[in-house]
Amino acid sequence: MEVREFVAKRKLELKEEVSSLSRKPKLVIIQVNDDPASDAYIRGKLKDGAEIGADCVLDKMDPSTSEETLLSRIEEYNQDPAVDGLIVQLPLPKHISEDKVKLAVSPKKDVDGFHPLGKQNPCTPKGIIEYLDAEGFSFVGKNAVVIGRSNIVGKPMAKMLLAKHCNVTQLHSRTSKEDMAFYLAHADLIVVAVGRLGLIDNTFTFKKDAFIVDVGTNRGEDGKLHGDCVPSLPVKLQTPVPGGVGLLTRLALMENLLEVTHK
Ligand code: NAP
Repeated sequence: MEVREFVAKRKLELKEEVSSLSRKPKLVIIQVNDDPASDAYIRGKLKDGAEIGADCVLDKMDPSTSEETLLSRIEEYNQDPAVDGLIVQLPLPKHISEDKVKLAVSPKKDVDGFHPLGKQNPCTPKGIIEYLDAEGFSFVGKNAVVIGRSNIVGKPMAKMLLAKHCNVTQLHSRTSKEDMAFYLAHADLIVVAVGRLGLIDNTFTFKKDAFIVDVGTNRGEDGKLHGDCVPSLPVKLQTPVPGGVGLLTRLALMENLLEVTHK
């Protein structure tokens, strides 16, 4: 099933779940930047929330807000029993510590899955695993290659695949092209989370029944959004960009919101 179709179906299920609750789940998004990409991500989250019947609100703070003021605003929401989920949209201004902010959000309300003590998984790998499950990828004993080792995608992705009993190999900027070619040729699943347009192309060989999940988002010279992989690689499944992992990430956020909501 196409990612779009899968996400639409799951959203209807979430909407039904929300309608059976005694009150709407409430998500607060704090934004402390004037970044147009963040504006677009936030619009998407608010739209998804409205679609499933959740109450999602944006608290936009001035980018000059001090770290102390932001941390005390976070604490107010942590203490507010009417708020189920809390997000602080990244990036933050340079004078605010991202680590401090991530740790300040209560793990009970951390729908982004960033807090080390939180129970929720980060949204991008969570959405990917859910889609692969739905597509019948069998995980156990399969060779999974994750390219990229960031804290929000690559590392949690590798950890979650290991928990599903894949044989996980993690590649990064210090991996040679020869080694990358070797690992890709043996992979049943390839998750590419780098941010380099065209990094994975037809010069590599793949198993013909491999699954490729393209996380990368790159603005091409044509002004359009592209993944890290060239389209139509000779494999069983390749997620498109746009219309792929971005939608799965947004879906997983709504799922995390429902999971943290007191029912
Ligand atoms: P990041 O923090 O910049 O990490 C990129 C990773 O790629 C690093 O681990 C880096 O290795 C590795 N890398 C860089 N050049 C490489 C190369 N030539 N070969 C192999 N590995 C290389 O990025 P991120 O936050 O994980 O995001 C990755 C991409 O996914 C970006 O395009 C981002 O926009 C996109 N993204 C999309 C979504 C979505 O919902 N669609 C969500 C999150 C991210 P080192 O560690 O050695 O530097």
